[in-house]
Amino acid sequence: MLATLLGLLLLAPPPDTSWKHAGLRTRMVERQIAARGITSPAVLRAMRSVPRHRFVPGVAPELAYADRPLPIGHDQTISQPYIVARMTALVDPDASDRVLEIGTGSGYQAAVLSTIVDSVYTLEIIPELAATATKRLRRLGYDNVVVRNADGFEGWPSRAPFDAIVVTAAPEEIPPPLLDQLADGGRMIVPVGPTGGTQELTLVTKDDGDIARRTLAPVRFVPFLRPED
Ligand code: SAH
Repeated sequence: MLATLLGLLLLAPPPDTSWKHAGLRTRMVERQIAARGITSPAVLRAMRSVPRHRFVPGVAPELAYADRPLPIGHDQTISQPYIVARMTALVDPDASDRVLEIGTGSGYQAAVLSTIVDSVYTLEIIPELAATATKRLRRLGYDNVVVRNADGFEGWPSRAPFDAIVVTAAPEEIPPPLLDQLADGGRMIVPVGPTGGTQELTLVTKDDGDIARRTLAPVRFVPFLRPED
């Protein structure tokens, strides 16, 4: 009897705690995001709904919702909530958009985007992070996100063009394939600059084939890795 019960418990899926900590999320949105000028209702709604604590397992919930980046293993970090919200708002996502993300990491930014747009294609160069994020996103029900373990430098040609591209690791120069794969009328947000230094958060737009770039703010991101790194 006891053995059967124990067996059932072990077979049971992990408890769904994604509804928890709504209070921490409301406070995070008010104090860290709305207070700093993010007004997009869709972005604020997304930040209130995605259970960030599920993307940083083993971290106390108060810390998961704190105003700071956090380690996610393999020398990588999940960005501070404000940066995720700001990058999402800057690509001005629309319900019909197909979005490419470079640097899946924990899957958090992809989940936030996926609640607003039609579909998210996200590339991660570290196999273990890609595998964990794939499982996590499936378990949490983010069905319109596709994760692939590959070098984001080449983009995802078979799924291009993309209405928006979000790059969450910093290249020294914008990879040309990403510029090619941006749709006409599309927006890309990318931190550009030297590894280990300060990068410029850069908004790239394409109109009638013309590329325009605008630098917005100094930021610090983990480096854009290449297969030989
Ligand atoms: N967006 C993530 C945070 C990413 S940190 C989140 O929400 O959790 C940056 C990620 O980019 C890391 O996981 C790193 O492994 C990945 N990365 C770095 N260079 C890459 C490349 N060339 N292609 C794909 N992913 C890359």
